[in-house]
Amino acid sequence: MEEQTRSIVQQSLNALLENENFLTDLKGGMRQKAFTSLNSILSTPNQIHKSFLRVPLEGGEVVRIPSYRVHHNDALGPYKGGIRFHETVNEEEVVNLAFLMTLKNALHNVPFGGGKGGIMINPKDFSEKELHKICIKYVRYFNNVIGPDKDIPAPDVGSGEREMDWMMAEYKKINQGSPYLGSFTGKSVENGGSLGRREATGKGVYFTFRYLLNNYVKDNQATFATTTNPFAKTALEYVNRELTVAVQGFGNVGSVTALEAYRCAHIQNKVVAVSDRNVTLFNADGLDIPALVEFTAKNKGDLPTSEDQLTAAGIAATIQGREDILTMDVDVLFLAALENQLNDQNKTQIKARIIVEGANAPTTREADDYLSEKGVVIIPDILANAGGVIVSYLEWLQGRETQFFSEEEVYNQLLAKMRNTMDTLLPQYFGDTFSLRQNCYIHSVTRLSTVLYRQGKLY
Ligand code: GLU
Repeated sequence: MEEQTRSIVQQSLNALLENENFLTDLKGGMRQKAFTSLNSILSTPNQIHKSFLRVPLEGGEVVRIPSYRVHHNDALGPYKGGIRFHETVNEEEVVNLAFLMTLKNALHNVPFGGGKGGIMINPKDFSEKELHKICIKYVRYFNNVIGPDKDIPAPDVGSGEREMDWMMAEYKKINQGSPYLGSFTGKSVENGGSLGRREATGKGVYFTFRYLLNNYVKDNQATFATTTNPFAKTALEYVNRELTVAVQGFGNVGSVTALEAYRCAHIQNKVVAVSDRNVTLFNADGLDIPALVEFTAKNKGDLPTSEDQLTAAGIAATIQGREDILTMDVDVLFLAALENQLNDQNKTQIKARIIVEGANAPTTREADDYLSEKGVVIIPDILANAGGVIVSYLEWLQGRETQFFSEEEVYNQLLAKMRNTMDTLLPQYFGDTFSLRQNCYIHSVTRLSTVLYRQGKLY
């Protein structure tokens, strides 16, 4: 497991150990032992399932594809988390992502545990037929460990509703007569998915930022005026003024986040830069995000990479290297690509003073410590990007009852849940010296520890 996750959990447990109001019946030596047990339970996954999928390609050749399903912890409910399709997928990464799911669900009071899956492929290297076969094989190999009350997969990087539809169909076929709508979330609406699921993560990412700045900080300006809290001071500088925004990643999360920023009537945002795996596009006057979304829809998800493509699409922008976005002189940087983007190498060059993590684990521990020390406001992954799993929960619920919510009902419930979490966390964050990530972890670890204790797991 990533050292960053492990060490923040340890820090959270240390803070709780000192807190006399927490688990008051645990005293003295017993208390010490219970906390050591909590640390081992939380920093180790319950199970790691690994298989090499045997997949015949269209050309006749057979390949073996390393695939994973990790069950981190199910104290709060069935395991839940996406399946990543990416060529760099590996066991340690999936374990860490499963752990983040446990913390994310605990943080937002979603009644699920934490799980994650991964398939080590670049989906762009395979035909549609081959991808279909890979999805079917994944379900066949992991059928025993998944299910609507056991472990419910969803999309992640490189997968989407098409893959979830195929997988659910295979699950249904293998488990005839059993409920199947809740076996996968992130399905298409026609196939039992929820309205709003596709946009949920991006909308939630933008909402956490907007709510923090435009509601919480703005409403508390008077009290913040005399604050010595470094994060409150930073946030205060960005209220009531025009902001420049950059969004790294233009997939399901980044493109929706960019659109939300572009359309937001509450904050004067100018999205000056977006990027993907090929390029960064920049325009100091603001990019035409709807035109870029339209372009990517027609071009396999890729942003324009040449002057000719930009001109043909009527988009005004300059083309820069894909990494340039990270060090641009902007106010707000949304990270919606992959892990470890802000790291020891580039941490001193980061200029944005508000960073929002749409991806999971995009900031390494070194960069996180360095930037937090400098008073940079970092809205962490488990807080900002939970919109996906929150609406997955609503999808699971709707599938169980076969009663479906309107899009408006979905968004109202999504935003209410995120608002609730932030109303608990933000007063603590702006009132002490812990980073927002540390505050989130303390909150999640408190909930998990209480339940593990009540369930008799600490003896
Ligand atoms: N893959 C998404 C995440 O990392 C969504 C998980 C889900 O909906 O279960 O949060």
